[in-house]
Amino acid sequence: MRPVDHLEPRFVEYIPDDVEAGVLYISHRFSTATHLCCCGCGREVVTPFNPAKWSFFERGGKVSLSPSIGNWSFPCRSHYIVSGNRVLWAGSMSADVIAAVQRRDVQDAVRFAPPTPGYARRCAASIIGSWNALVAALRALWR
Ligand SMILES: [Zn+2]
Repeated sequence: MRPVDHLEPRFVEYIPDDVEAGVLYISHRFSTATHLCCCGCGREVVTPFNPAKWSFFERGGKVSLSPSIGNWSFPCRSHYIVSGNRVLWAGSMSADVIAAVQRRDVQDAVRFAPPTPGYARRCAASIIGSWNALVAALRALWR
């Protein structure tokens, strides 16, 4: 399998047994998503949605996951960000760039999701866990 630079979102109730490469299966019922590692190694990556794991955003049919996906337990040890259906390889990215992507995701979440202070706070805390993000998110909310 070849690496993919794009994940096509597919909304399902149950994650299928045969997960197709290049597809991000999203089950809102079970608050989780699954895809095959984007490096092409074929391993299944499960990203549960909860404040301690991943946050899922959708805007105009484009989906993002935050924070980045670090498959440290796989032999490939691949690391990437899923943002707007795109796969952004994070291995060679500086921490600053990753943080900037995550901050933008926080802002998107605040801008495009039901804007309640509680939601913004949870998003900011779960995605980055830093005061900077919290302040930026709340600023965007109150602007
Ligand atoms: Zn891999």
